[in-house]
Amino acid sequence: MSIKSEIERLRNELPQGVKLLAVSKFHPVEALQQAYDAGQRAFGESRPQELKVKYETLPKDIEWHMIGHLQTNKVKYIARYVHLIESLDSVRLAEAIEKEAAKCDRAIDCLLEIHVAQEESKSGWDYDELLNFVRSRGFEAMPHIRLRGVMGMATFADDETVIRGDFQRLKECFTELKGYFGEEFDTLSMGMSDDYPIAIEYGSTEVRIGSTIFGQREY
Ligand SMILES: *Cc1c(COP(=O)(O)O)cnc(C)c1O
Repeated sequence: MSIKSEIERLRNELPQGVKLLAVSKFHPVEALQQAYDAGQRAFGESRPQELKVKYETLPKDIEWHMIGHLQTNKVKYIARYVHLIESLDSVRLAEAIEKEAAKCDRAIDCLLEIHVAQEESKSGWDYDELLNFVRSRGFEAMPHIRLRGVMGMATFADDETVIRGDFQRLKECFTELKGYFGEEFDTLSMGMSDDYPIAIEYGSTEVRIGSTIFGQREY
């Protein structure tokens, strides 16, 4: 299957209100250009330097989403133009984003990445710690961060009930946090190549799809 035909197939399959993020990490700019030519405009990358090179090379109407773990000292590579940081997962990172966004005189849209999967390796906030920070009004001192929703990953498992439990949990976290942040908090980013149809059942508004579109990554 070509990149173009996969994008068209997904576009037809996804319900209205579910956005397609093409996860292009580790793929060359030629592959992204093919997706762009098929009309795709939202791309997800996991490494800031790679994102920066692609941003500089490809057309300027692309929306760049940062979806990988972001180190505080790397925020500066993307702060000026990133469309959405989906991997905001700690107070320290929030402080770094606030500082870099202020320097660029802009507010940066961010998602709170929440850890629900059973693997230790997956990143994201511990939900109780996040709630404490939210309740202590920690984000109110950060006017250059605009919180737009939640991002999360399900456990890598064959057991579908585990995956369903994770998406259910993310949905609950999203709904509770929306109570604090209001209408602007409108994005629930969950679902990848192997599990996106299930994520949609649980209210996903954005699926992040890589290998289905671009093939296997070569690390
Ligand atoms: C790599 C990655 C994806 C895409 O994974 P696929 O299985 O290739 O669709 C989605 N979300 C995050 C956070 C990722 O790191």
